[in-house]
Amino acid sequence: MAKKKKKTKRKLAHPKLPMQRHLNLRHEGTYFDLRAIFDNLNERYFRGRLRRYKVIWGRRRKHRPREHFIFGTIQEEDRVIRINPALDQPFVPLWFLRYVLYHEMLHSVVPDQTLSANRRRVHTEEFNRREREFPYYRRARRWEEENLSRFLR
Ligand SMILES: [Zn+2]
Repeated sequence: MAKKKKKTKRKLAHPKLPMQRHLNLRHEGTYFDLRAIFDNLNERYFRGRLRRYKVIWGRRRKHRPREHFIFGTIQEEDRVIRINPALDQPFVPLWFLRYVLYHEMLHSVVPDQTLSANRRRVHTEEFNRREREFPYYRRARRWEEENLSRFLR
């Protein structure tokens, strides 16, 4: 009898559903939903070619980096695109976040170049050309330059 009671208590303290929901919603930030942005870009610029990709906010860091700020990464083996959660802020324009995602998505369709046994080039000429085709490319690069210090220590 006492055992049963304990079990019930624990269940109440850690309800299953909200935890699962939390895990499933890692694409949803406070200000931006990465899934919606990804789906829109995928249709618009990639003809829906990127399939079964997960697009999630990365882990929050305790401290801002001193020098290098990584906006996003793509892990093609697992099909995961991670976006730096520091971008989930109201001062970040939507078109900038779209550019960051577009850049990572482009990596999945433009092949890397092998330079030597252990050197690869990911930002190839083809990549750079296609990146510049993005409508907000110049505006986004300028915004990045002007606002980078806000993401650093
Ligand atoms: Zn890149």
